[in-house]
Amino acid sequence: MRPLIAGNWKMHGTAPQLSDIAGVAAVVRATRPAADILICPPATLIARAVEAAAGQIAIGGQNCASEISGAFTGDLSAEMLKDAGASWVILGHSERRQHHGETDSMVAAKAQAAWRAGLLAIICIGETGAQRHAGHALTVCAGQITGSLPEGMAASGNAIGYEPLWAIGSGHVPALEEIAQMHAHIRQCLVARFGAQGRQVRILYGGSVNPANAGAVLAVPEVDGALVGGASLKPTDFEAIVRAVPANA
Ligand code: PEP
Repeated sequence: MRPLIAGNWKMHGTAPQLSDIAGVAAVVRATRPAADILICPPATLIARAVEAAAGQIAIGGQNCASEISGAFTGDLSAEMLKDAGASWVILGHSERRQHHGETDSMVAAKAQAAWRAGLLAIICIGETGAQRHAGHALTVCAGQITGSLPEGMAASGNAIGYEPLWAIGSGHVPALEEIAQMHAHIRQCLVARFGAQGRQVRILYGGSVNPANAGAVLAVPEVDGALVGGASLKPTDFEAIVRAVPANA
């Protein structure tokens, strides 16, 4: 499966950072990495990011509403992201779940909205540190898969982002064995739910991926790419992560 390296800029970036996207696009054009590259800037930058990406990098949103339109002040529909030029959207990020009260069923409704609009989705799951210490990491993620993934997940290139909450922005990455165990478990859950098509869903690892650990993380079985937060804001780091994709991935 062709890996996906996705950068999540979160609430960072204004017009001057568009040149970072142009710089990454130039690296992609020159190096032809064995991966699809995606950057998800704030929604205000999507249209201009598409221009800066010059067809070398896909551009995505970080959230969408489940409704098409209506009296939902401040919200953006999947159709609006698509209209701005997005081809992907990140859904159910732990920061949305924590700070905006997003539940599994809300995430599932947003995923259906994304597909209705013709966007691909990265649906995020992941356990807290307390849940991992209590030995519940696998069951928590299985439950999130059951609740957050609607039918249709296995079609046409969608992705799961496995992001242990304790690894996000912390500089701590799980042991490679822990990543391997969780990704194998997620794959099992996907196959149990969607049959052989469950093998087509990319499973991205996210949480403190950086240039130093990217090569090792991306070489773990069932790791089909990375979801990168902090390091995606530093173009040289993000470019180094893109270069770390194993040639035979
Ligand atoms: C994220 O929040 O999606 C993320 C992976 O962040 P970081 O890479 O900074 O841990």
